[in-house]
Amino acid sequence: MAKCCGDNKPQINTSNPCNSPQPQCDSGSSAEKKLAGGPLEWFGKMIQNCFEYATQAKANGKHVVGIMCEYTPRELIMAADALPVCLCGGSAEMIGPAEEDLPANLCPLIKSTYGYHIEKANPFLEMADLIVAETTCDGKKKMYELMNQTRPMYVLELPQKAADSDAMAHWISELRKLRTKLQEHFDVEVTDEKIKKAITVMNHERRLRRELAELMKSQSPPLTGRQLLEFKSNISGNCADLKQYDKAIKFFKSQKTDRSKDSQVRVLMTGVPIVHGSERVLDIIESHGGLVVCMDNCTGLKPILEDVDETIQDPIIALAQKYFRLPCSVMTKNDRRMDVLRKLFAEYRPQCIIELIWQACLTYDVESYLVKKLASEELGIPYLRIETDYSPSDSARIALRVEALFETVCGRAGQSD
Ligand code: SF4
Ligand code: SF4
Repeated sequence: MAKCCGDNKPQINTSNPCNSPQPQCDSGSSAEKKLAGGPLEWFGKMIQNCFEYATQAKANGKHVVGIMCEYTPRELIMAADALPVCLCGGSAEMIGPAEEDLPANLCPLIKSTYGYHIEKANPFLEMADLIVAETTCDGKKKMYELMNQTRPMYVLELPQKAADSDAMAHWISELRKLRTKLQEHFDVEVTDEKIKKAITVMNHERRLRRELAELMKSQSPPLTGRQLLEFKSNISGNCADLKQYDKAIKFFKSQKTDRSKDSQVRVLMTGVPIVHGSERVLDIIESHGGLVVCMDNCTGLKPILEDVDETIQDPIIALAQKYFRLPCSVMTKNDRRMDVLRKLFAEYRPQCIIELIWQACLTYDVESYLVKKLASEELGIPYLRIETDYSPSDSARIALRVEALFETVCGRAGQSD
């Protein structure tokens, strides 16, 4: 099986969120070399960039608001003259400290976030003037209660029945309450005009990131799934990032890549978010002959597939409609996720689906039954479910399972030739 980067894994210093991962390939692809000093290098220093950006913003009197879920409309926070910062933890080193207070059998993303909290090791959490606590999965909800003992927090209640009209009415009312809270907490007016301006910025950012992701539809994509994952930021709406997205699109569009000899297996990754520092499974897939052409999770396409409708007069209603359509497994039912997977399958032409489940993430784990059924019975492609945490102890076993999956894919391709 062809290997894209040998066995080199990113060396991530998980103890310090300001240390960015090293480049994936020692040799460096020609695209990486040509982009030296450009967008790849810029987003390779994403945490450092965010740190400098947030420090400067605080010095200029802006506030920082922590979030942990894609249901929270960043636009509302931006309209309150504050920076929305993602606080999700991806460090394995934070799990031990977290388990002093939390059960071991809990999602590593929640434990890692909490570990940063008790160790005071995440500079963005330490800068946060307020944390928006979204009521998504049970583990996150209860962890927030412990965090709230020492940190200012606002609970944003997410209704769980996505298709009900009264659920939408409740969600609109929740967003109006969040707006009021931000106004009171920061003594600032959150006007419709400010929200609309923030919507325009966020729509622009979503469009750029979507355009970059859509390059993976090509038969010979100009970048790897791992490189694409680098093109994101913990703080949205930063003009410097938008310029770099634009540069990256122009650069990769101008590249002539020929992957016809690489015999890489096109993979659709689904399931839980892969936050900064927790990219191990993606690295294993791409270093064992896979090319992740599409990720539908919250660190992939899910939050950027749709924009906020700028023609709706009441911006709160516009935000509510866009964000409530996120197809997350915490919703019941979550049929839209299957529709999105069907659409992505048609557009990105993956040869298999790999579902990543963080250990003890019950909602994604139960829903994996439906994804497997969709892959095998409807789409007719192999499916692999990988349940793991942030520890590298099962990497060799995962690599073996990935190789076996790719052999199945190649065997099928051989039969149809
Ligand atoms: S997977 Fe669900 S709970 Fe997690 S960030 Fe995405 S929308 Fe929020
Ligand atoms: S991965 Fe699952 S368990 Fe973990 S925070 Fe997200 S929804 Fe909750």
